Amino acid sequence: NRRFVLAERPKGEPTSETLRLETAAIPEPGPGQMLLRTEYLSLDPYMRGRMSDAPSYAAPVAVDAVMEGGTVAQVVASHLAGFKPGDWVLSFNGWQDYAVSDGAGVTLLDAGMPHLSWALGILGMPGFTAWAGLTQIGAPKPGETVCVAAATGPVGATVGQIAKLMGCHVIGIAGGADKCAHAVNALGFDVCLDHKSASFAKDLQAAASKGIDVYFENVGGVVFDAVLPILNTGARVPVCGLISQYNATGAPDGPDRMSMLMGQILRKRLTMRGFIIFQDFGHLYPEFAKAMGDWLDSGVMQYREEVIQGLEAAPEAFIGLLRGDNFGKRVIHVGAE
Ligand code: NDP
Repeated sequence: NRRFVLAERPKGEPTSETLRLETAAIPEPGPGQMLLRTEYLSLDPYMRGRMSDAPSYAAPVAVDAVMEGGTVAQVVASHLAGFKPGDWVLSFNGWQDYAVSDGAGVTLLDAGMPHLSWALGILGMPGFTAWAGLTQIGAPKPGETVCVAAATGPVGATVGQIAKLMGCHVIGIAGGADKCAHAVNALGFDVCLDHKSASFAKDLQAAASKGIDVYFENVGGVVFDAVLPILNTGARVPVCGLISQYNATGAPDGPDRMSMLMGQILRKRLTMRGFIIFQDFGHLYPEFAKAMGDWLDSGVMQYREEVIQGLEAAPEAFIGLLRGDNFGKRVIHVGAE
């Protein structure tokens, strides 16, 4: 059983020293337990938070413990009603080949689904995050302008596509020309701007000629600085993630902009609301699953996935995800033997 444990808490960007590969015996399931074999491991930005012991909505991974992560797995042996060998499940095996589970938080997957790994992406946590944050907090009306960054990732790509289906004008923000072209040509965004361009703030202002009504916040930092002045009165900001800050070791440079932010919230009557997907909206999952299933079946929703082979590739792939090296949802094909 190969497994990655947290070797040390990273300061700033995680490094090759952050996680350590170990080999241990395959665990034996006891009464009321089952043994799961990992097929796919999801890589997600929240994992950076679990590496840190700063206060958060979830407990950190302990040093020397197996790194957490969502997985698609197959039941190998089971002493648990409702799960039998061969069943496919969505589980939280973490970064390892095998895990023992008592079934808590584990759901059966339809073995006939065309892409099992999609349960970690568009049909799972990131897709649900996009749908819930947009519909429950952003609540865009037809004709309004919706803006989202990390526009080709699993959350941003889904936000923009749902907003198009809701009749909105959609502005994407992404890193580089290839990602921007994909957002427009494959995902159907109206426009997509490169946040690495020197003229980014001006480009955004020009693209948002009627201002922004919903800004789905995935990144923070300079992108938010460019968005804030062009938010419309009554704009809604679902605060989903702040990935530009996850490796930060201190406050950003420059003058304190807090009073400017508060002034904008007041004068423009902005609504900014943070959310943690399953804690705040878990009860809506069936509604999301039905809507997304229908969109995928009818072919109106596109999904881009980057499958990387081998558990051993996971640390580098994760470090790259935080830098924006991924183009679409990043999953590791563990394919444990
Ligand atoms: P992505 O696959 O989109 O990966 C992250 C992307 O963020 C990178 O590819 C990169 O895209 C972009 N990025 C990285 N650094 C910067 C930066 N400094 N400035 C601007 N963009 C940057 O991730 P997900 O779709 O899985 O997640 C998107 C966001 O949603 C994250 O912030 C995540 O933490 C959050 N989230 C929150 C949840 C919740 O419950 N609140 C649940 C799930 C996700 P590019 O190259 O295009 O800039």
